[in-house]
Amino acid sequence: MTENRRRRVLLKLSGEAFGAGSLGVNPDVVSALAKEIAEASKDVEIAIVVGGGNFFRGAELSQRGMDRGRADYMGMLGTVMNALALQDFLEQAGAATRVQSAISMTQVAEPYIPRRAERHLEKGRVVIFGAGAGLPYFSTDTVAAQRALEIGADVVLVAKNGVDGVYTADPKTDDTATMIHEITYQEALVQGLKVVDSTAFSLCMDNRMPMVVFGMSPAGNLASAIRGDRIGTLVSA
Ligand code: UDP
Repeated sequence: MTENRRRRVLLKLSGEAFGAGSLGVNPDVVSALAKEIAEASKDVEIAIVVGGGNFFRGAELSQRGMDRGRADYMGMLGTVMNALALQDFLEQAGAATRVQSAISMTQVAEPYIPRRAERHLEKGRVVIFGAGAGLPYFSTDTVAAQRALEIGADVVLVAKNGVDGVYTADPKTDDTATMIHEITYQEALVQGLKVVDSTAFSLCMDNRMPMVVFGMSPAGNLASAIRGDRIGTLVSA
């Protein structure tokens, strides 16, 4: 690490963050979040893993009778659609971008090449990772943890809709639930807190990768988290 190295973050955006409705993605919602990311990318190196739950979740499709592997590939293709939507709005907002896909589709995205992704980041480009890990039975949370480790990110930022951090209990059903500002992976494990899925959690815990779980709203939160302001819940080793 050189002394003047910029902060490098891995942002995980769920499919939910892309809005819903008849278009699959809500252009107004994506445009607003792209503007925040584009602004923050002037000072911070930003790589993004996008989810695809607004289109398909493999586990849900398989419960309705589809083969799990095929359903998961549909889920991964959904993440690529989100990646392209985000790329478009980021470029409209003035950011330089690259999409890298874990499933080859060279007309629309570069293949996932970690060293090349790092080079893009050094040049100030926002890098969007689509198609998850390219493997069924994985989640994009897990991919966020893995990509963060592989490209040497300083932190994984997990953006949430409808919740602003990790709570002692489910705030929707328990009035006594309070938000936790800082916790270790070990404490979260002992207290049985659900932060991200268990594979993503253990990858970060085992490799001492800090994670910030924060809410997408109000406007400005995303840029704040990217810059490193103390919002949401910091989970560290
Ligand atoms: N998926 C997969 N392998 C991966 C990443 C994703 O099979 O490496 C599939 C899986 O079916 C998942 C879907 O893609 O349900 C969408 O991803 P995810 O559920 O993580 O999206 P999010 O909940 O963040 O919107």
